[in-house]
Amino acid sequence: MKHFPIFMALEGRRVVVSGGGEAALAKLRLLLKTEAKLVVVTEDAAPEIAQWAQDGRLTLIRRAMEPGDALCARLFYAANEDDAEDARVAELAHRDGALVNIVDNLEDSQFITPAMVDRDPVVVAIGTEGAAPVLARAIKKDIEERLSPRLGLMARMGKAFRARAEALPFGVKRREFWADYYAQGVASETDASSSLEALLDKHLTAKPKEGRVDLVGAGPGDPELLTLKARKALDEADVVIYDRLVAPEILELARREAVMLSAGKEGFGPSVTQDAINEMIVSHARSGAHVVRLKSGDPTVFGRLDEEIDACDASGIAWTIIPGITSASAAVAALGQSFTKRGRNSGVRFITGHDTKGFADHDWKTLASEGEVAAIYMGKKSARFIQGRLLMHGADPLTQVTVIENASRPEQRILATTLGELEPTLTHANLTGPALVFLGLAPRAALVAAQHHEMEAAI
Ligand code: SAH
Repeated sequence: MKHFPIFMALEGRRVVVSGGGEAALAKLRLLLKTEAKLVVVTEDAAPEIAQWAQDGRLTLIRRAMEPGDALCARLFYAANEDDAEDARVAELAHRDGALVNIVDNLEDSQFITPAMVDRDPVVVAIGTEGAAPVLARAIKKDIEERLSPRLGLMARMGKAFRARAEALPFGVKRREFWADYYAQGVASETDASSSLEALLDKHLTAKPKEGRVDLVGAGPGDPELLTLKARKALDEADVVIYDRLVAPEILELARREAVMLSAGKEGFGPSVTQDAINEMIVSHARSGAHVVRLKSGDPTVFGRLDEEIDACDASGIAWTIIPGITSASAAVAALGQSFTKRGRNSGVRFITGHDTKGFADHDWKTLASEGEVAAIYMGKKSARFIQGRLLMHGADPLTQVTVIENASRPEQRILATTLGELEPTLTHANLTGPALVFLGLAPRAALVAAQHHEMEAAI
């Protein structure tokens, strides 16, 4: 970000514009919305400017700019549409200590004026640092359409009502009152005032809100793989308790006011205990909060979900499960494969490399048979153990095995190998992100060929 957006107090402050043509007019139309003391210095003022001067809305100095004209000015606009003259007046304004903008000259400007959507006192400023004015206009149009023309009126009425709203306790209750108010439309000032009164009454007499818990799947990492329900829950959450594997881009989507708490769960690193996580969930829900417990992938897959549900049940807290896309689904898609295939396998197993007792035991004999497909979660550390067990039970060392690290994320990596080679290949690859091991699946040949082609083209 080369330019930092701020809203500057201009009430009673001097703002000087040099120039009297179209460029100056465009800036003045915006500046006249403020309460700044406007001064225009120009030898040749457009009739509108002369009229504004006559109406007392600005001061017009009819001569070329001189040293001292921009003294005590907060802002200065060089808008002569003449590079040499703009450079001259900008230099004078610099010396007078004003912040300088040269119209249509980003390089030499100290500040820029954003595109604006004005619902005073609500103002949306849009900037692209000069990179994409067309995009800025499109965004402005989009926001113009979304914001009610009466939003300004609502905000002004709301501001005047703030002291009354303090009858509601600070925090969730007051926030909900305002959210309700801004969610409804109003037609006029009287309408706004009566709806504020009615809403306050409703909120003051409402029964205390019951907390609840949404156990939400955040998917494998790509924010576009979130469900609409998950998005909605994040939009409405008071508290979000998230696992380490949940991608930061997804956490960004949570309601801005939501309290974000890390449950820090990590396969082998330091972690918050499950009891402490349960306690976190329950205590926030008890205090009336809408808790979103955000887990990677699908919460029902190797997520210790039942322990959290039991904790909610034990405290009489309502909960719902919002499913997510499990990482195996994203990983198999990355291979261009399908989990099941007629004639190859009529079932697929989701297994874990680890359980409460350490390396997890499985029906190795069945898994070792031909055509078997399994997605092994948390399989990095246990790869050697799994490899040993399967070979011991007669699996073909040439059985295809694929490891997918960071499925659906920009850093996604695919490692195609065989059961016989799984270790040491995996250790040598030195994967640092979450990874799944697929037994009995290889990337589709066409994908591999395309990748080779790309590599050859790159060489
Ligand atoms: N509930 C999650 C799984 C949690 S267990 C789900 O449905 O996906 C954590 C394991 O999931 C990791 O050890 C890894 O094996 C796997 N995993 C999670 N996200 C992954 C990703 N983006 N790519 C590959 N594997 C992932």
